[in-house]
Amino acid sequence: MSDCIFCKIVAKEIPGETVYEDDQVLAIKDINPQAPVHLLLITKKHITSLNEVSSEDEGLMGHILMLAQKLAQKFGVAESGYRVVTNIGKEGGQAVPHLHFHVLGGKALGVHID
Ligand code: 5GP
Ligand code: ZN
Repeated sequence: MSDCIFCKIVAKEIPGETVYEDDQVLAIKDINPQAPVHLLLITKKHITSLNEVSSEDEGLMGHILMLAQKLAQKFGVAESGYRVVTNIGKEGGQAVPHLHFHVLGGKALGVHID
C-alpha cells in the first residue's frame, strides 16, 4: 500500500522510533503518546484492521499478542498493569487503516471508552 503511513514506516521510508523488529512485526513508540509507555505493534503485512484478518494470519495474531506481553515486561509495566488495544474502523476510532496494537502503560489508565 504505497499511500499507507504505517507501510512507509515499515519500509523505513519515513522514520519511526523502533523498539523491536522481526520478520513479521515492527514495534515503535507512538508519536503522540497517551501514557508514559505507548507502543504501536504494527504488522509488516498490510492488513487494514482486525476485520480483514483471515485464518492464514492466526499465527501472526498469536505472535503479536505474545510480543505485547514481552514488550510490556521490557518496558517495566508488566507488574503494574497495562492495556493492549486495537481500534477497528470509524466508530472504533481507528485513524490509521493498517492493523496495529497499542500497548499502553506507566500510569493508571482511565476506564472511559469515549
Ligand atoms: P489508531 O487511532 O489508528 O488506533 O491509532 C493510530 C496511532 O498512530 C495514534 O496513536 C497516533 O498517535 C499514531 N501515529 C500516527 N502517525 C504516526 C507516525 O507517523 N509515527 C508514529 N510513531 N505514530 C503515529
Ligand atoms: Zn499499510
